[in-house]
Amino acid sequence: MTDPLIGAVEAGGTKFVLALARRDGVIVERERIPTATPAETFPAMQDFFRAASRNHGPIGSFGIASFGPIDIDPASPGYGTFTTTPKPGWSGARFHDALGEFDVPIAVDTDVNGAALGEWLGGAGRGCRTLAYTTIGTGIGTGVVRDGRSLAGFSHYESGHIRPPRDPVRDPFAGSCPFHGDCLEGLASGPAIVRRWGDSLDRVAGQSEAVDLIASYVAHLAASLVLLHMPDRLIFGGGVMHAPGLLTSVRRQCEGLLGGYIADSRLDPGLERYIVAPGLGDDAGITGAIALGRQALEG
Ligand code: ZN
Repeated sequence: MTDPLIGAVEAGGTKFVLALARRDGVIVERERIPTATPAETFPAMQDFFRAASRNHGPIGSFGIASFGPIDIDPASPGYGTFTTTPKPGWSGARFHDALGEFDVPIAVDTDVNGAALGEWLGGAGRGCRTLAYTTIGTGIGTGVVRDGRSLAGFSHYESGHIRPPRDPVRDPFAGSCPFHGDCLEGLASGPAIVRRWGDSLDRVAGQSEAVDLIASYVAHLAASLVLLHMPDRLIFGGGVMHAPGLLTSVRRQCEGLLGGYIADSRLDPGLERYIVAPGLGDDAGITGAIALGRQALEG
């Protein structure tokens, strides 16, 4: 009798990464499909898992790390259902409907929680009990993992919509969030940066000033995460974080905001060990999805 396999899905806004993996995390087959509408993407996903299961053996569970907003409460009747997503056609679509034919447990979490779990297991968060992983990209979000489980309240966290202080003289841009204007996502996400300066952060003229401004907002979140969760480490990933000097500026400004208040050896002087880049790069999401599937398999 072979060990059941894990079906893993990293569902992103532009692509789905699909993988069939062994319990130890080794991927035996993987594929990428575009994120179109559920009527197109879900059947392609089903086809992949049917064929992969024929080739490699029965699937024992699914783990899904998905864009959202999506219901991630296992006790809710709508578990695994997209809620208010502006992505056309996806509101109301449900992973459990698409994968019901396999008749196995399905665990669903957000893409950022999945990436956090992946980094906790095999990336820059290895050895941490509590880890906060934040992505600064098209959107902004944070996953907090403690002892291998992502934390949530009645829904997943929405750190991107915290409102950092904005000095209108230094930054006259009023923000691009349709709900809040100058919340973190409205000020520091990739689209907000392009709207403010007409280009991405690594190409903006007078770059170091721009980098310090964006870093001031990200550092506000970093300090808030320390104060709220006391994580062993903070990871900052996502496309915006590739801008040269940004991570360094976030460390410096976060240390300034904390003002020496948190005295713990984890927060090294300069925060170079405390605030770090991801270790897994593009594989964090699918690694986390496999881990979710393993949790579903083990009940
Ligand atoms: Zn907002």
